[in-house]
Amino acid sequence: MKKAPLFDKSQQELEKFCVLKGFKKYNAHQVMRWVYFYQIFDFTKMTDIPKPLRDELLNNFHTNLPEVVNTIYEDDINGYSKKYLIRLADGMTIESVLINYNNRKTLCVSSQIGCKMGCAFCETAGLGAGRNLSSGEIISQILLISEDIKEKITNVVFMGMGEPLDNIVEVEKSLNIMSDNKFLAIAPRKITVSTCGLLDKLNDIEKFKCKIAISLNASDESTRNRLMPVNKKFPLKNIVNLINSKKPSVHNKITLEYVLIKGINDNISNAKELIKMFSPSKVKFNLIPLNKGKNSIFLKNFERPGDDAIEGFKVKLLKAGFTVTTRFSKAQSINGGCGQLTAKTLYS
Ligand code: SF4
Repeated sequence: MKKAPLFDKSQQELEKFCVLKGFKKYNAHQVMRWVYFYQIFDFTKMTDIPKPLRDELLNNFHTNLPEVVNTIYEDDINGYSKKYLIRLADGMTIESVLINYNNRKTLCVSSQIGCKMGCAFCETAGLGAGRNLSSGEIISQILLISEDIKEKITNVVFMGMGEPLDNIVEVEKSLNIMSDNKFLAIAPRKITVSTCGLLDKLNDIEKFKCKIAISLNASDESTRNRLMPVNKKFPLKNIVNLINSKKPSVHNKITLEYVLIKGINDNISNAKELIKMFSPSKVKFNLIPLNKGKNSIFLKNFERPGDDAIEGFKVKLLKAGFTVTTRFSKAQSINGGCGQLTAKTLYS
């Protein structure tokens, strides 16, 4: 009999299995605690599980992790970045990036293979639509890399390949497991879900109380239409209205990601428009000077702005009272920076 991946099962699904086989609902919780909290994947070592249930688990499920095909490593004085090329059970490949700086182990996970959103500055978009990852394939990235570094992953960002809100069912399932303090125990405030702006799915994520980042990248509709086709369905004005309808927050402001592209959206007048649209009490900005990957054919029409333009843009927002970070992407030299994951760069 073909065994199913245990990592794809939610707690409710595993409870149903246990009850169906004549065991208790709480046995499912015990199994998940072994797997996710203690990261013991061998059913025979789950000593508080009744032996007949362990046999049923062995007969019906496997706990195989995907395979690391290759890695690229880059270090500096404060830590290191490591990009993983991972082969899934069906032979498809994804990339995950570990950024281990100042004792914070942040894993950038993929949620899809490729992406159909077509953002003009993103290398993943060049792969086109692939398929959704299952919740187990998302969670497996954490388990696999935690096993590799022999340490717990402290932070997760959904900023790898794919648009997480376009795979909302599996992403929600994975969030349930990673944010549960009895399972993977990654506090919601240490998880960030980044979206290109699928506003109709935002509620589904906000209930987890994790951090939200919206990829904005323009201060007017026509530029955003050009950079992000999603703007035709969810225009900039809807993002502005939604954010401005929220209560001010000190600790959980929405992050607006803004990829700075020379001559497209990096003028000081763009910063002034952003200042008019948003309030420092509700959003913070993360400026990301364009990363051109080593194999960038897709981005050939775009250039990174000069340092003076980046600094000028940042200072304008800072003076208006916004919190601003400039992400000179860690892992950039290994094509692991934002918008650079293509699941093929490790081959070249
Ligand atoms: S930026 Fe995100 S949403 Fe846009 S194409 Fe790339 S992966 Fe997809």
